Amino acid sequence: MAAQDSAVVKPECLTAGGARIDPPIIKVEAVQNILDICRAMSLWPMTFGLACCAIEMMAVGMARFDISRFGAEVFRPSPRQSDLMIVAGTVTKKMAPAVVRLYEQMPAPKYVMALGNCAISGGPFRFKGQYGIVEGVDNLIPVDVYVPGCPPRPEGLLEGLFEIQKKMTGRRWWPNPVQGGGK
Ligand code: SF4
Repeated sequence: MAAQDSAVVKPECLTAGGARIDPPIIKVEAVQNILDICRAMSLWPMTFGLACCAIEMMAVGMARFDISRFGAEVFRPSPRQSDLMIVAGTVTKKMAPAVVRLYEQMPAPKYVMALGNCAISGGPFRFKGQYGIVEGVDNLIPVDVYVPGCPPRPEGLLEGLFEIQKKMTGRRWWPNPVQGGGK
């Protein structure tokens, strides 16, 4: 009987100690892939703007650019309901603790977009002797995507969103405006 058992039990079902573990009924990797796609297509950005770049962020919510086509329509007023922080504008040293606090209040997995030159590096306010600006929000929190410009156009924000979706799922989902096609 023992010999029969050893014949049917595959090596990958055994731990190093020899105890038998049944293989998972659900393929976790496949489930994870589905969850990643679901999350990527329903990102909830935080309602959060710091300076002029936030005007461009507001524009993507309007009819012309319509970010809802790509699953990120629901801007949430609470970090606890958000999984995407778009840092749109100048990060002052006085504001820095609030930015970090908001990031820490977001549930994982969470993503950050640095929108505009100010959020990326301090932008036009970065000069010798300046004392009030954080020269790049990535000095405070991890950033997933950088969208340059002063300000970036709304299309740039949408490209940043596509990059985050690609980061989450491993592929680009929307046609490339330059090359055409969706790969
Ligand atoms: S990058 Fe330019 S447009 Fe954006 S917040 Fe800074 S100064 Fe304003």
